Amino acid sequence: MQESLEKLKELIESQGKLVVFTGAGMSTESGIPDFRSPGGVWSKHQPIMYQDFLASKQARQDYWAFYLDWFPGFVQAQPHQGHVALGRLYQAGLLGAVVTQNVDGLHQAGGVADADVVEIHGSVFTTACLDCQQHQEPTNGVLDRVQAGEADPACPSCGGCLKPSTISFGQGLVPQDLQRAAELCAAADPLLVVGSSLVVTPAAELPLATLARGGSLAIINHEPTPLDERASLLFRDPAGEVLAALAGNLLKDV
Ligand code: NAD
Ligand code: ZN
Repeated sequence: MQESLEKLKELIESQGKLVVFTGAGMSTESGIPDFRSPGGVWSKHQPIMYQDFLASKQARQDYWAFYLDWFPGFVQAQPHQGHVALGRLYQAGLLGAVVTQNVDGLHQAGGVADADVVEIHGSVFTTACLDCQQHQEPTNGVLDRVQAGEADPACPSCGGCLKPSTISFGQGLVPQDLQRAAELCAAADPLLVVGSSLVVTPAAELPLATLARGGSLAIINHEPTPLDERASLLFRDPAGEVLAALAGNLLKDV
């Protein structure tokens, strides 16, 4: 790992355009399981389709019941050494932005300003109305209502359908977020991918924007990804360990 870390450090220092792109594997060391690994969310719950959420009261009730079970893990989770390392790199001006598929807010908790975290799959902490598109409120308040017996809580302004602001299967991403993520990845050099299987679009496509513009790719992931062959550097070690060592190397010169 030392040799690859040294190369990554040189790449970051020489190009000066580091952007980090993270998936669920970034947060497993904070105790939030990823989706695909054994014991992950998908081994316990069928993922909901957005169309079913819109069409079926029963599907919404099941979804909110799942959220009651899932949400406390996000409230309890703390940033690990890797999130903190990225926060330090950001504060030292060495990291421009984070594009994340995670919905856990841990990059902000680790010290990256909210304005420089692009959450392409949204956040579990806010809930919005799908009908009036005006109303937004913290998810924990809505979950209190669910717990008090409102199995399918309605928007207090228009009576419409409330949904946590995370992107479900079959639901489009927010175009402005996707656009910003694509621009950041296109301008990145290097793009450091952390903890993503890179099998689902647009996650699989964003690093291609970096390569298309001549930027390099570094990947930290336990499992092989479809882009490993095109990456300049690969790490199979735990994300927290690699990022902490990287920040240690880069910041000792600052
Ligand atoms: P994924 O589950 O498809 O892949 C995660 C990858 O991370 C795996 O290949 C795994 O080998 C690797 N990994 C796990 N722990 C690691 C570690 N400590 N160090 C290095 N690598 C590690 O994740 P994905 O591609 O992000 O897709 C799942 C989607 O589900 C995400 O897009 C996200 O929206 C959502 N999700 C988010 C969270 C969260 O917010 N923390 C958690 C679960 C799922
Ligand atoms: Zn409404």
